[in-house]
Amino acid sequence: MKVLVVGNGGREHAIAWALLRSPQVEQVFCTPGNGGTATLSRCQNLPYSVDDFERIGQAVREQGIDLVVVGPEVPLAMGITDYLQAQGAMVFGPTKAGAQIEASKAWAKALMQEAGIPTAKAAVFTQESAAKDYVTAQGAPIVVKADGLAAGKGVIVAETVAQAHQALEAIFAGQFGDAGKFVVIEECLIGQEASVLALTDGITIRPLLPAQDHKRIGEGDTGENTGGMGVYAPAPLVTPELMARIEREVLQRAIATLRSKGIDYRGVLYAGLMIAPTGEFKVLEFNCRFGDPETQAILPLLETPLEELLVACCQQKLGELPPIAWKPGAACCVVAAAKGYPGAYEKGHVITGIDAAEASGGCVFHAGTRLGQGGKGGQGGTRSSRDRREWGLGGEGGQGGLRESQLPTPDSRLPTPVITDGGRVLGVSGVGENFEQAIALAYDAIAQIHFDGIYYRRDIGHRIQ
Ligand code: ATP
Repeated sequence: MKVLVVGNGGREHAIAWALLRSPQVEQVFCTPGNGGTATLSRCQNLPYSVDDFERIGQAVREQGIDLVVVGPEVPLAMGITDYLQAQGAMVFGPTKAGAQIEASKAWAKALMQEAGIPTAKAAVFTQESAAKDYVTAQGAPIVVKADGLAAGKGVIVAETVAQAHQALEAIFAGQFGDAGKFVVIEECLIGQEASVLALTDGITIRPLLPAQDHKRIGEGDTGENTGGMGVYAPAPLVTPELMARIEREVLQRAIATLRSKGIDYRGVLYAGLMIAPTGEFKVLEFNCRFGDPETQAILPLLETPLEELLVACCQQKLGELPPIAWKPGAACCVVAAAKGYPGAYEKGHVITGIDAAEASGGCVFHAGTRLGQGGKGGQGGTRSSRDRREWGLGGEGGQGGLRESQLPTPDSRLPTPVITDGGRVLGVSGVGENFEQAIALAYDAIAQIHFDGIYYRRDIGHRIQ
């Protein structure tokens, strides 16, 4: 079987790596991929950005691709599944109609209310003055969310009414473009966040191991929100009893309500949950794809061949498969970012020590990397161009340009130097018999990796009791 993975993050590297462990998978293509997918054996990068449906469709036909797996939300929300399915391709990932569950927070909120899924009390606004009046009446803390996709930047947890008003002014002034035409204002929930991802064929649901991400850039969960700085699975916070309730009260209700709307949702349904100290939970958001970095901790624990599960979802045969088999133990992934991330960051630095990290037992998943020559001083560009990079879209500014003589010596065991090319550069996962082992393995391995300005949190897993 030949599989095409669409995307260029750590998630897509982990998906490609997991697929290649299956004896049924003969070759994987990744578009546009990254330095990691370029160096995986039996994996080849294609140069098309994730929104270039025409060329992706052409590649599917020319390469004889049997299965397309879509990583990021943007092409799903743009309708890549509808486009490729119309040409006869088998695609893992929901259609444009299904992807609204992530692409519109107002739509998702209405679905949750209709389905009776526990979620924060909320109201939707299109006018600044009405939104401000609502905030004043509700008081702070309160959460303001731009409706559409904003790479995790469109959510403001306001501590004061003034902060919420400021956020509303910025959104209605066009800070997030069309994504901010509607604004969802939501009660502020407290507790711990958990990610529960499930595979679904539109009827049957098979939850994956629950995970806990670390969204903030700083240790102790401080500072700006990021795409995710580290994760572990299975999250002990989500007990088997809680998982059974989440499956029943969130995932099954969501899929049944989607079906009642005529949406045959096949792919990943990802519920981001807030779990209160009492153990009660509410859904913060739904995503329509694998989580990043969650996938980098979940897939190393998967024993069932990934391609079997994904094909069964596409063919609506998930219910015919035996339960998903998992390795016993735990996994932890630590993300290394470029200095400055999630703000402006440099790219073009040579990465060394990847082989040593892998030799010490870590699994290195590349995200913002490429193969080629270093070039210190390349800039991450504007915030929106950095978001485009995280989504695998084209059109981002060029690489930096150091002269050959100024380059640091690349790792001699690698055929071509691996260069930093994004904000989140790579993730290192450790798998162990327990969390202590998994965390130690991930940190021992990441300590082998070097590039100018490398930053990673030293406290991934600090909430594990
Ligand atoms: P991403 O795509 O990065 O996961 P997003 O833009 O889809 O983010 P949400 O997941 O809805 O947005 O919110 C981002 C973060 O904001 C959450 O992970 C959580 O930390 C915080 N948040 C969102 N809603 C609430 C809420 N009602 N109460 C408290 N915190 C919240």
